[in-house]
Formats: sequence, structure tokens, C-alpha cells
Amino acid sequence: MRIDIATLFPEMLENYLSQSVVGRARDKGIFTVKCHNIRDYTLDKHRRVDDTPYSERQGMLMQCEPVYNCFKAVTEGRKPHVIYMSPQGRTLTQQRAKELSQLDDIFILCGHYEGVDERVIEEIVDEEISIGDYVLTGGELPALVLVDSVVRMLDGTLSKADCYEDESHYNGLLEYPQYTRPEIWHDKQVPQVLLSGHHANILKWRHEQALLITQKKRPELLEKVELTPADLAILHKNGEE
Ligand code: SAM
Repeated sequence: MRIDIATLFPEMLENYLSQSVVGRARDKGIFTVKCHNIRDYTLDKHRRVDDTPYSERQGMLMQCEPVYNCFKAVTEGRKPHVIYMSPQGRTLTQQRAKELSQLDDIFILCGHYEGVDERVIEEIVDEEISIGDYVLTGGELPALVLVDSVVRMLDGTLSKADCYEDESHYNGLLEYPQYTRPEIWHDKQVPQVLLSGHHANILKWRHEQALLITQKKRPELLEKVELTPADLAILHKNGEE
């Protein structure tokens, strides 16, 4: 997979993209990512990329031309899937991240200040994605959130697919609780079943816990999950207690 990110602040992104799981996947060549400074594509002699919005006295808006020039120079006639990080977009979900992980070529546009002139969004953008119903200063953090969520699901990024398949949201439920050494901490004992070595029982326990934790923390998620009669019995019993 190839990812290009157009931003006014490439340094904000580079550090994150070269560390930890994402950085290792990049080093292994599982995906490539390049951050492009939109300011390098302005024709203004003072390297300006923004101006005041029409009819507004306050704030600055990113202009069409530098964004468009950056897009044209980077894509060189290719047709990537173009995403504008925007609080007005559809909220990112695990399902959407999974779908995007199947694509070969993604171009991400990060806005800043008051955002980006609508005309260039109309011209180049395929999809607007939000990371939540709140407004941030720029699209850089949202772009990192998007890239991280997508790259985790590329083959080879994590050691085993189940690493993310068991995680919260992948199958609609939250993940079961997890424990590591020591076996007893502050008088709290790791559940016996996890020490038993009985694989089938452990899988059953994990599934039950995922149901119960979802019911406790995010009950609305259960409305979208296909539940078996056995699942419903577990939830019902817990609800009565
Ligand atoms: N004036 C815009 C509005 O009200 O819709 C908000 C602009 S925001 C201050 C500047 C930039 O941050 C946006 O262009 C977008 O790229 C990014 N941004 C802010 N909040 C975001 C969110 N929740 N999800 C994705 N991108 C966001």
C-alpha cells in the first residue's frame, strides 16, 4: 500500500510514522508513506497558502491552488483514493479502516486553520473522514489516527491476524479483559480459567467476557451484533443480577 499525506506540518507526522508498530511496518516495506508539505507547492513568493474567507473577518482558509498543485505533483496521473480529514466527514470505524486497508493507493489531505476552500475539496476528494464529533486544530492527528488504524490490518504488520481480530470493535464487541504477571496483585487473582491451559474453556470465557464487558460499557453496540441464543442467555442472566 502507498499512502501520501498532504499537510502544512509534515514534521508533526514523521515522528509518529517512524516509531513502534507503524514504523516497523514501514521499515519492512509493508506500506510506504510520504508526507508532502503543501507550502512547497504555492506559487506565492512569500510561500503563503491561505487567505481570509469571503464574508468572514476572522480566520484563514487554505487556498485551492497549493493543495491542487501538491495533489497533481504527487499523484502524477495516478488515481488514488483521496480522503480529506474533516469534522464534517463520516466518523471512522473499524469496519471502514478494514475496507481502506484493501486499497493500494491512498492520498490524505490535512486541513488547518478554518479548513480548505470548498472548490478544491469538490475537485479532488473522494471521501471525508472524521475521527469524532469535535473540532481539532488540524488534520494531522486525524490523519495519523487513520493511518494507524489501517496499517495495523495490513498483512504482516502484526504477528498474527487474531491480534486485531480479537480486539475491540473488530467483530462488534469490546475485547475481554486481559492480565499479565504477577498472578496475584493487591489481592486480586488472575481468573483461574486463564491459568488452566484449557484452550476451549479459555475461548468460551473470553467470548462471555466480551459480551459482558460490552453490555456494561457500551450496551448500544450490542444492537448491531448478531447474537446467538446462548449469547442472549448470558446477557439476560447478567442483566438480572
Ligand atoms: N471550520 C471547520 C468546520 O467547522 O467544519 C473546521 C476546521 S478545523 C479547525 C481545521 C482542520 O482540522 C480541518 O480542515 C480538518 O482537516 C481537521 N479536523 C478538525 N477536526 C477534525 C475531526 N474531528 N476529524 C478529522 N479532521 C478534523
